Amino acid sequence: MSKIRRLEIPKHFIDLIVKTALKTEIEICGLLLGKIINQTAIVKELSFGRNIKKSPILFEIASEDIYRILTYAERKGLEVVGMFHSHPANPYPSQRDLRFMKLWPIPWLIVSSITGDFDCYAYDSEEKRIYKVKIKAISF
Ligand code: ZN
Repeated sequence: MSKIRRLEIPKHFIDLIVKTALKTEIEICGLLLGKIINQTAIVKELSFGRNIKKSPILFEIASEDIYRILTYAERKGLEVVGMFHSHPANPYPSQRDLRFMKLWPIPWLIVSSITGDFDCYAYDSEEKRIYKVKIKAISF
């Protein structure tokens, strides 16, 4: 898979993720669906999953929700182009996130549930490090 450098996402999706993170006690999480064109992940839909860890500092998306979202994406001809979750801290990957980012090298959008700030990172399996994915919020 070629390296994804940009995440193009409707601004109202970001607003919804931030708003939900700010008012939820536990970490929120979900997947971003769309298409990858020329190193840009173009987000067309977002889908929240349940955090089965029910924790303010950890998340794990319920496997039934992943299955439901993947089945839906396949039906709609969309790919999983990114994932999102919140942190009660800076929007920077935790050590635990890093382990999973290696397994799933798609853009990870992280939102601070304290400040509402957000950022996006992905793991580069060739250079063996994470890099910042540019976020382009699209307003309609
Ligand atoms: Zn995290």
